[in-house]
Amino acid sequence: MIKIGCHLSSSKGFLHMGKEAEKIGANTFQFFSRNPRGSKAKALNMEDIKAYQEYASEYGIPVILAHAPYTLNPCSKDARTREFAFETMEDDLRRMEYLQGNYYNFHPGSHVGQGSEEGIRQIAEVLNHILKPEQTTTVLLETMAGKGTEIGRSFEELRDIIDLVELDSHIGVCMDTCHVYDAGYDIVQDLDGVLEQFDKIVGLERLKAMHINDSKNPFESHKDRHEKIGEGSLGVETFVNIINHPKLRELPFYLETPNELEGYAKEIALLKGKYLE
Ligand code: FE
Ligand code: FE
Ligand code: ZN
Repeated sequence: MIKIGCHLSSSKGFLHMGKEAEKIGANTFQFFSRNPRGSKAKALNMEDIKAYQEYASEYGIPVILAHAPYTLNPCSKDARTREFAFETMEDDLRRMEYLQGNYYNFHPGSHVGQGSEEGIRQIAEVLNHILKPEQTTTVLLETMAGKGTEIGRSFEELRDIIDLVELDSHIGVCMDTCHVYDAGYDIVQDLDGVLEQFDKIVGLERLKAMHINDSKNPFESHKDRHEKIGEGSLGVETFVNIINHPKLRELPFYLETPNELEGYAKEIALLKGKYLE
């Protein structure tokens, strides 16, 4: 069975997200670990977590994906901004352990003129401080579009980060289809070639999840503007190839398309219908 879901609002808690997922035909979901602007996280509601866990095992939600606030920058030039990213991610990971065995995705950051080498070193430094041997959460680096000074625009940059991480068994990658196409990986014409490249440079065993978004912009535009499935430059056929690809079909897929719940339900139904059982 395909593992598919979308980004949901976490404002009403985990049980609510689980039920919302079921309502739209999803069996997994993504949520912000806290307000995306990066403010203080609400206290965890243990009753909600317990109720969610019961619901998830009954209904069948195998894994979920937390997304760190996109405003964090672990490789900022400003030491206080880096410190804030470190504290936020450390606290998020501590909270994730109440759920056990899920994924935590983050944007590697923007080096803001320091150069990618220094940026990569700073990102790895943060990871080396927050990863713990006993932790059950896998931290995912998201592939980025290469807007401005974004790190993670190439598979090589992701590998270079991972190479510097000591507890690298806790690290994986989340591939965003809009971002990699924007970054110059042609998953429309040559999905096999891109996956081969990924395998050679990073290793496909690191790939743990996918964000499936169409793109408002043409190939290699480094803009990062998501589009609804089938309405952008990637096209429905690309997504049918991705969800059925022998090397990808077991991964959880997450929609981050510009949609309300109704639109997500439609896209989930569309892709479920194209999944070869
Ligand atoms: Fe993201
Ligand atoms: Fe994404
Ligand atoms: Zn994006």
